[in-house]
Amino acid sequence: MPEYYRKSCVIPSKFLKFEVQISKNKTKVTMNTQEFIALEEKYGAHNYHPLDVVINRGEGVWVWDVEGKKYLDCLAAYSAVNQGHCHPRIINVLKEQASKITLTSRAFRNDQLPLLCKEMCELTGYEMLLPMNSGAEAVETALKAARKWGYKVKGVAENEGEILTCTNNFSGRTISIVSFSTEEQYKDGFGPFTPGFRNIEYGDISALEAAITPNTVAFLVEPIQGEAGIIVPPAGYLKAAFEICKKNNVLFIADEIQSGLGRSGKLFAFNYDEIKPDVVIIGKALSGGCYPVSAVLSGKEVLGVFNPGDHGSTFGGNPLGASIARESIKVLIEEKLVENSYDLGIYFRDKLNAINSPHVKEIRGKGLFIGVELHEKAGGARRFCEALAKRGILCKETHTHVIRFAPPLVIKKEEIDEALVSIKEVLLMA
Ligand SMILES: *Cc1c(COP(=O)(O)O)cnc(C)c1O
Repeated sequence: MPEYYRKSCVIPSKFLKFEVQISKNKTKVTMNTQEFIALEEKYGAHNYHPLDVVINRGEGVWVWDVEGKKYLDCLAAYSAVNQGHCHPRIINVLKEQASKITLTSRAFRNDQLPLLCKEMCELTGYEMLLPMNSGAEAVETALKAARKWGYKVKGVAENEGEILTCTNNFSGRTISIVSFSTEEQYKDGFGPFTPGFRNIEYGDISALEAAITPNTVAFLVEPIQGEAGIIVPPAGYLKAAFEICKKNNVLFIADEIQSGLGRSGKLFAFNYDEIKPDVVIIGKALSGGCYPVSAVLSGKEVLGVFNPGDHGSTFGGNPLGASIARESIKVLIEEKLVENSYDLGIYFRDKLNAINSPHVKEIRGKGLFIGVELHEKAGGARRFCEALAKRGILCKETHTHVIRFAPPLVIKKEEIDEALVSIKEVLLMA
């Protein structure tokens, strides 16, 4: 028996002790939390530090762990699950489409992508959509489009184009994207980096004005910075930045992967500033958390720079993802989740403010995109997240001192009230 074959036989058999037969064709895994964690620690790469909760079921705003304990999900998979876990309408479409056709590749056409493009363009007022899978891929796509637009349309000399980005940005983990990160850890050990990016202070309009040169092709910005700790820029910043970009023929690219699709209480966070960015990048909730689907929205002048063969993705625009995205957006609109995010966002923030915790430095955000920043002497947000998890509320600290509250947008007022009882206890603990 060849070595690789013997190995592949041996590994699964080790797990058999965890499986019990529950019917003729069904087995049930009977591992507990600690056993799952031990396996993941042993065999999985350690590029995350999750809370020690092993989830195996979700419905709406609720998830359950393998011990049967129920939690209110206040992270919503970094806002990918705005429509709630396993939304029945989205799961139905997923099942139906999965049994028809899942992947054609873009070598052929399918009957879902054209409808997704049309529906998204009609909803957002853009002319074209380019579909990808992960958020980072859509950001890369927007950066490529901006550079090519710079050379072919704006007339910048080849390879001289510059893209302005912001301090404390987060746009994904590819080498080009971490090239403009200001977070040391995201870059450590991953050089050499992609040139052509320059960072300016987020929220500082004169820094943007001063940084623009004839070679500047684009300004990439998160209308609210999620990973940086739900940082809302000063009022009027986006509008002023947009006008400066217009005046200098620089593309304004909004990364709405996390802040978009209802999270901020508007369809897009830039809607508060009544601007229309040249390029919008979406992902995460575009599939309601049911599949990786991302996209770039823009006009013909920008996305029109791509010719057949310039750019692509095997899975981008596949009929399974496209059908799921179509239904996810319909759910968002028809169930008025954007409005719910706006209303309950105000309610939730007011109630958090009323707790008057000595640990809290600032409560900020828009819609159900809420950051609670703690004083340094509170000892970091992690212990508060762990205390909340014990009480059945799942949150994740971001940047050491911020607790993020971003539940699925299907949450109800009574569910927030219920959560606030535990949140108050935790924010008032010693
Ligand atoms: C999550 C996120 C990304 C990256 O998306 P992935 O799907 O993880 O690649 C990009 N930009 C923002 C603002 C994000 O929050």
